[in-house]
Amino acid sequence: MKRGPKVSKEKTEKLFWDKVDKTPGLGPKGTCWEWTAGKNNGGYGHFAESVFSGKRKIWKAHRFSYFLERGSIPDGMLICHTCDNRSCCNPDHLWAGSAKDNSDDMFSKGRRNGWLKVTDDQALHIRQEYDDLPLSKSGKKKRGEVSRLANQYGVTNSLIVQIGKRRLRRIND
Ligand SMILES: [Zn+2]
Repeated sequence: MKRGPKVSKEKTEKLFWDKVDKTPGLGPKGTCWEWTAGKNNGGYGHFAESVFSGKRKIWKAHRFSYFLERGSIPDGMLICHTCDNRSCCNPDHLWAGSAKDNSDDMFSKGRRNGWLKVTDDQALHIRQEYDDLPLSKSGKKKRGEVSRLANQYGVTNSLIVQIGKRRLRRIND
């Protein structure tokens, strides 16, 4: 199999930054650098390279940005966003935290967003009930059923989904 010329680190960096839109005014702070290429289901950009890693590796784009800026990612650390914009690659908006830091951060943000009015106990119940909800033909939870749960707990549909999908309230698992 024919292999192309070895790609340099500089070239790889350029390829990466070519996919980032630094136009002022983006994101909640107006200073986000938006990833414009492929994203995964969670909304994080992804970027494949092999020069820095020594083997083909698919990075989350913001992690690669942090890596380029700092030269490394501390072992086992998550790279978190201060802007809550998952597709943002601005190194100034990124910080390395443990899984616990991240959950504390979500917790304090959750306090601002009001989802903490759901108690841990309720969250566990919501999670169970969500798992048991009937599915529509497309394989998704039926909207009416989600609304029913939301009304029952006095919260929004999206909060039910967030808790049901374990995006919130990972604690106490
Ligand atoms: Zn940002």
